[in-house]
Amino acid sequence: MEEKRIGRRTFLKAAAVSTAVVSATNLSKATPAVAQGNALPKTGIPHKELGTTGVKVPILHLGTAQRLDPVYDKIMHRCFKEGVTWFDTALSYGWGASHRAIANFLTQIKDRKKMWLTSKSGSGSPRGLTEDLDECLEELKTDYLDLYLMHGIDDEDMLEPEFIRLGDQLRKSGKTKFFGFSCHDGNVVELMNKAAKVGGIDAILFRYNFRRYGDRELNLAIDACKKAGIGLIAMKTNGSVPSSIEKVAQFRSDNFTLGQAKLKSVWADERIDSVVSEMDSIRVTRENIAAAKSEKHLTATESHQLNQLAALTANYACNGCDHICETIMDQKVAIADSLRFLMYHECYGKTERARQLYNEIPVQARMCETEQLQKAAAVCPQGIDIAARLQQAQMELTV
Ligand code: SF4
Repeated sequence: MEEKRIGRRTFLKAAAVSTAVVSATNLSKATPAVAQGNALPKTGIPHKELGTTGVKVPILHLGTAQRLDPVYDKIMHRCFKEGVTWFDTALSYGWGASHRAIANFLTQIKDRKKMWLTSKSGSGSPRGLTEDLDECLEELKTDYLDLYLMHGIDDEDMLEPEFIRLGDQLRKSGKTKFFGFSCHDGNVVELMNKAAKVGGIDAILFRYNFRRYGDRELNLAIDACKKAGIGLIAMKTNGSVPSSIEKVAQFRSDNFTLGQAKLKSVWADERIDSVVSEMDSIRVTRENIAAAKSEKHLTATESHQLNQLAALTANYACNGCDHICETIMDQKVAIADSLRFLMYHECYGKTERARQLYNEIPVQARMCETEQLQKAAAVCPQGIDIAARLQQAQMELTV
């Protein structure tokens, strides 16, 4: 049987070679030119067609799960001014605060049509999704969405005919132009393959970053979606691990910051139509926009360094493939979700949200016997010490 992923040992070996290459090149430590605000290229944000929708969208758009200023949000306005005219939100973000801030922003720019809006509902029924779409429109003070997504699905039943028919109805109603789903992983491959087969899905938002390029099955699923004309949107492109861990593989480049390089590596994959990025400061906003506008590509050395980073930090980066570790255990433990919420806390500083989400996990699904966790760790392709990381989550996030 062919290997599902590039073996970790092979990867580490490659990383060791890359380390030698990188250190031998004695790269400059100067601030990369693209990262500097005054180096913003004069070109606009490139656009690509989203799947086969016939609509061209910016390759970068703003994720709004972050805290937004309800009165005047500088980041949203900066994005708009620079051509990042697509915002991604959800009913659940900030308990409606994200929707309300975007509604206010739309009033300020005075032209809804200049923006593209995605929103999402976590409802598991056609009726709930229909009602939630109305709630989205009401909160956003608009009469249509550009893209409505079933939020974070992990059940293939959500692609059964009743949901596909619902997508048709919602498009026909004019309340959304396009319909699709997001998933945080789990069975992303199965979901993507099914979506490619059943049709009726315009776009998929999924976790994709430099850590995933060796995943054969994911690549085949991406190919299938592309062939079926589904728009592909990448999220979690940072592939974050705690910064103290990330520092073990120092990234050096004359061209890009590490964050920019991660984005560039996703854009280098021509199957991806757009990247959603939470830009929670003006600095990050400027850097991401500069990277999107830059015509420079990653050099081989920069790509090597990302591979190196992926290899050296793999055992902190959960890919969310819960069908691998969670199904092998005798009891239900929410490993992938716990590690994702721990990442929100450790990497994004979103402790409040991380704690809220973590504490929604039933207590009995947060931890179990070490022997069971060792069984799960033994099959983890990332080599994560699951017991230690779950303990960390329990310590940091329990309220
Ligand atoms: S702990 Fe490992 S197997 Fe489990 S979801 Fe994360 S990466 Fe996948």
